[in-house]
Amino acid sequence: MPQAPKQFSVLGMPIHLLENYPHWLVSRLNEKQGTHIVTLNAEMTMEARINPQLAEVIRQADLIIPDGAGVVLYLKLHGFRVRRCPGIELAENLLQESVEPEHPWPVFFYGGAPGVAQAAAETWQQRIPGLAIVGTQHGYHTPEEEEAIRQTLKETQPRLIMVGLGVPRQEYWIRQHRQLCPQAIWIGVGGSFDIWAGLKSRAPDWLKDNHLEWVYRLYKEPWRWRRMLALPRFALYALVERLAKNVITRHQTS
Ligand code: UDP
Repeated sequence: MPQAPKQFSVLGMPIHLLENYPHWLVSRLNEKQGTHIVTLNAEMTMEARINPQLAEVIRQADLIIPDGAGVVLYLKLHGFRVRRCPGIELAENLLQESVEPEHPWPVFFYGGAPGVAQAAAETWQQRIPGLAIVGTQHGYHTPEEEEAIRQTLKETQPRLIMVGLGVPRQEYWIRQHRQLCPQAIWIGVGGSFDIWAGLKSRAPDWLKDNHLEWVYRLYKEPWRWRRMLALPRFALYALVERLAKNVITRHQTS
């Protein structure tokens, strides 16, 4: 049984630090343990501070990974040696892993505009011919279609379920439905289907390497500016918390 990962706090939200996330997830799946993965970034952390329902879902998740540059910088500020683990990259690793002969995992893609999950699935099917995608479903459906998704999940029992409905919708959906496939990895992938389908692109490496992927996102999708005000607020909270801790430590040691 894989050990529970070490847990730390990012402004009150839990985060798990592991050397190798895919490795831990494979061990868990081999033990038939289901896993809900949350990909934590600064925006989500700030949203959870004012949204108790989201905070609760995050706290109940089995694995919370440092998806965003802000979260990584926060952890570094607190002395942790940590590397960013973007959710889209973990999802891609898991797709590669899903075809390993010792544990072929059926995969399900759910979310995005009509046709997008299907296009993303075709991209991956070409990249990894052995991939077993047992279903795709877009994220703008009627209640009847939602019932059909539940039925498909129950019948096909995928072991890797990617849900791209955006935050916090995807986190709520996973919590509500994960008992349908109790042995699966469930991961909220945000807009990853749009990227895999070729509708959007990720930032160039030099921006990613300098913790600036968010700048590229803002440049490409300027309408996000209001949501992204969470980033400077996160930085401010992080600095104030750090300074307060320094003051308390100095006070205690003097
Ligand atoms: N989406 C969806 N159903 C909805 C609302 C959104 O499938 O009712 C999809 C949308 O098409 C997009 C994704 O959810 O593919 C959200 O992407 P975004 O990049 O905004 O994700 P976030 O930044 O929240 O992780």
